[in-house]
Amino acid sequence: MTTVEQPDRHRELIDEIADAIILVSPSDTVLMWSRAAEQLFGYSAEEACGVSLVDLLVPSDRLDEHQVHQRQARESGVALYETVRHRRDGSLLVVSVSVSAVKDQDGTLIHYVHSNCDVTRLTYRRESDLLATQFRGLLNAAPDSMIAVNRDGYIILLNTQAERMFGYTRNELVGSPVETLVPERYRGHHRQHRNGYFAEPRQRAMGADLDLYGLRKDGTEFPVEISLSPLDTDSGPMTMSAIRDITDRRRAEARFRSLLEAAPDAIVIVKADGTITLVNAQTETVFGYSRDALLGQPVEMLLPARLRNVHGAHRRHYFAEPRQRAMGAELELYGLRQDGTEFPVEISLSPLESEDGILTISAIRDVTQQKATAQRARLLAQEQAARVQAEAAVKTRTEFLSVAAHELKTPITSLRIFATLLIRQLDERGAANPDRLRLALETIDQQSDKLSRLINQLLDISRIEAGRLGLSRERSDLTALGRAVATAAQTTTQRHTISVYGGPVVTDVDVLRFEQVLTNLLDNAIKYSPDGGEIHLTVEAATPDTTQITVRDHGIGISDELRDRIFDRFFRVDESGPTSGMGLGLFISRQIVELHGGEIAADRAHGGGTRFVITMPSHAEGGT
Ligand code: ADP
Repeated sequence: MTTVEQPDRHRELIDEIADAIILVSPSDTVLMWSRAAEQLFGYSAEEACGVSLVDLLVPSDRLDEHQVHQRQARESGVALYETVRHRRDGSLLVVSVSVSAVKDQDGTLIHYVHSNCDVTRLTYRRESDLLATQFRGLLNAAPDSMIAVNRDGYIILLNTQAERMFGYTRNELVGSPVETLVPERYRGHHRQHRNGYFAEPRQRAMGADLDLYGLRKDGTEFPVEISLSPLDTDSGPMTMSAIRDITDRRRAEARFRSLLEAAPDAIVIVKADGTITLVNAQTETVFGYSRDALLGQPVEMLLPARLRNVHGAHRRHYFAEPRQRAMGAELELYGLRQDGTEFPVEISLSPLESEDGILTISAIRDVTQQKATAQRARLLAQEQAARVQAEAAVKTRTEFLSVAAHELKTPITSLRIFATLLIRQLDERGAANPDRLRLALETIDQQSDKLSRLINQLLDISRIEAGRLGLSRERSDLTALGRAVATAAQTTTQRHTISVYGGPVVTDVDVLRFEQVLTNLLDNAIKYSPDGGEIHLTVEAATPDTTQITVRDHGIGISDELRDRIFDRFFRVDESGPTSGMGLGLFISRQIVELHGGEIAADRAHGGGTRFVITMPSHAEGGT
């Protein structure tokens, strides 16, 4: 062999030896480090020489063993044993060691020669074979890939699912460090975690919050989920890992995420306890928070303080019965930005089943813009309505003036014609025809009457508008009153027959005003029954408290759509029709009836025509 002074003399030869050859001084310093040692332990000769062998290779629990064997070598020349050594990367090896002590002629120890042969694989294969029968059932029954690793980090057992998943045969993996299946960049960490697990072994998921990857033989990686459980074997404690390839799930998640990111709304996913588990980019934009500031925080941070309590209650309620729906459809909802400003939102909720239980997806839309647009539209509509009303008012006034002027002019014209006629007849003294004189005077009488009624209507309107239409009530028999009005009306027509029905019904009314109402109804019945026919006026006690006065004709009737409008001021069904009028009679009648505390309505009469019904309280009420 070689000596300290001339370590390089046989260097080449030594480097040819397959076993790792190490020369160590009596004080345990490495003097020479062969090429095979470099390969086996991972340290270069440069790194190793001058350093203590113990520091480099010997695990702390093997220190005694190391010393015992070195002593044995010193005493008997050589020691052979199997042990465990550290590699530079922290992994452990099973090596078969032979230590020889080299002495000079005086018997003084010059150095030790350690020859190390890696028997890891061999050792663990043996172990694996021993355990395989015991655990085969357990391994092959599992749907996942199962790999048992001993406390030094070597794969001892695996099932066929694991062979398939990683692309290795069983023989290739048994006795290999488990890090073979871990991508290079995670190996260091993995070793540390592995040691940590053995310190406190229990059933749990590996790196719950980490993205874990497996490495196939062909160098490709795939995402995995791993759960760990301790396994006691005859060869000592091991860790059983159940490994699941989650490529498909990750892909689905990625698709889901890209969908979320593409959504135009802010999307916030919340757990049942109200913490935010996922948000999209739009959420950051809308609320002004970064993603990190939101994840894991209570979702209530996104709403104004005054709404938080209520929201919490609603949230619990939602999780109790989750379904797709809008949030608080009838409520005004607000979001709160990071800068403290609020904005109106619309939110739709849908439940999402996940491994962490039910989650809620809320899609939140900032509706500031829509609200503003709607507000503008409302204002615009209001303005437009006001304009239309103003235009209508102007039109009504103009129409009213022209109708009033026309209506007043007709009787005045005929008054003038007949007055002129009278004057002319009187001028032609002696020639006067008494019949013609009578006709002229009767016409003058009728037209003045009509004129005064029109003018009275105008006066009534101005009183109503000024709120000065008053009543002076006295006890009267409504049936007798109706009879008097009917008799007067009958004198104006020969083609209609007016009948009055009913016994005495005494109540307090303004007689003149009430006559005016009945006159108007009978006049209309005559006016709008051009073919003549029966007109009925009925007075009866409808209930102990009300009296009903009905005027029914067989005339042209009123269409259902327009029936309610006939009580409006100036409303006439047929403006250009042959009958004259200002559309004020029913308006004034209704005011009078209502002043008495009563109601008036029109409906279609059986067998055609119109029926007006006045319902009056039997005992005086309303204004005086
Ligand atoms: P007018 O002076 O035009 O008769 P009213 O206010 O009395 O005004 O009536 C309003 C409109 O109601 C009438 O123009 C007519 O079109 C309709 N109307 C009123 N009474 C009757 C009726 N008995 N039959 C059919 N239409 C009627």
